[in-house]
Amino acid sequence: MGKGLLIIVSAPAGCGKDTVIEKLISGCSDIYYSVSATTRPMRKGELDGKSYYFISHGRFKEMIDSNDLLEYAEYVGNYYGTPKSPVLENMSAGKDVVLKIEVEGAKNVKNLFSDCVLIFLLPPSFQELERRLRLRGTEDEFAIASRILKAREEIKEVYGYDYAVVNDDLETAVDEIKSIIKAEKLSVKRGVKSIE
Ligand code: 5GP
Repeated sequence: MGKGLLIIVSAPAGCGKDTVIEKLISGCSDIYYSVSATTRPMRKGELDGKSYYFISHGRFKEMIDSNDLLEYAEYVGNYYGTPKSPVLENMSAGKDVVLKIEVEGAKNVKNLFSDCVLIFLLPPSFQELERRLRLRGTEDEFAIASRILKAREEIKEVYGYDYAVVNDDLETAVDEIKSIIKAEKLSVKRGVKSIE
């Protein structure tokens, strides 16, 4: 069995990436979604072990020190990191692995795995991004303002990615990501199975 693809999806807050990824992986047993560890407090509706592993700063530091993280980054005052072994194990088992991580982490993973696929999810416009962030109602004004500023910075990084997908319509965005995955699997740079 071949190695699975490592697919990274980055998007500023308010782009609807959680919904897009949920829909992408639902009913798709050959995609493994990597659950990150974070020091951020749990939001309403989130589940420990499913949305994230919600851990203390001390535990996060332990994971860094024992080399348990594939990558990690600080984002608006909290730490986020990708547990290493589930990613490596699932890729070796031939599964495609999806990481939903911010731009610094994406760059670090690209340095480790040059053949990973980098997808950037964009909002239809900045006005829409702001509207979606407020609608979520999970953060106070200060957090919303920080995330909007951060989004403007992050969007500049889109040119370092392989693909840009606009999340205007959920179905379309998910279909486009599925098309990217299909095309990547047929890419000659990854080898031509029938003659190798
Ligand atoms: P949120 O707090 O909104 O759930 O996530 C904030 C940002 O951290 C998002 O851009 C999200 O994709 C990113 N993120 C989540 N998990 C990880 C991770 O394991 N590593 C990195 N580098 N970023 C992450």
